[in-house]
Amino acid sequence: MCGVLDIPSAWALIDQIHGCDVVVAYAPDHLGEADGIMTSVPLLPIAIGTADCVPLVLTGHQTVAVIHAGWRGVAAGVVGEAFRMMEEAGSAVRSAVIGPHIGSCCYEVGPDVIDAIGGFAKSTTSGAPSVDLAGAARAQLPGVDVTVIDKCTMHDGGFYSHRENATPHRQVTVAWIPQDS
Ligand SMILES: [Zn+2]
Repeated sequence: MCGVLDIPSAWALIDQIHGCDVVVAYAPDHLGEADGIMTSVPLLPIAIGTADCVPLVLTGHQTVAVIHAGWRGVAAGVVGEAFRMMEEAGSAVRSAVIGPHIGSCCYEVGPDVIDAIGGFAKSTTSGAPSVDLAGAARAQLPGVDVTVIDKCTMHDGGFYSHRENATPHRQVTVAWIPQDS
């Protein structure tokens, strides 16, 4: 895969715990428990894995971040934390991409989750209560141009979905700063 993408094979990775910590990567490494990684180092791939949770890539001037945001992370403010850290690093978020995640079409949740998210209540296609996780994540990126890849990991084919079949597999979201940026 690295050959196809033409990027180094050593990446910065984390153990995702559905919290709100974002770590800064300076070199390829395993950076412990967190749910977001940011870097300003060119050609240092940073990556997270998801299977229904919301994957995000945030891009600033000379800085990029990847975030794993499930409902607990969104409720804890992990997206806003990355937004704030990039601003503090002098590289405010200019644009963001939200990758494939479980849509409100399929993401049936209890009232505890809707309460924790603080709104964004929807209904599934079968009429059960659900929540718009991507909308809630996006709300933590004020003024940012956000592109949403409108695919549902549960009902659109070709994705790993934990809700669908408890798969141990993950979609990987990897980002890096090009050498000559
Ligand atoms: Zn769906």
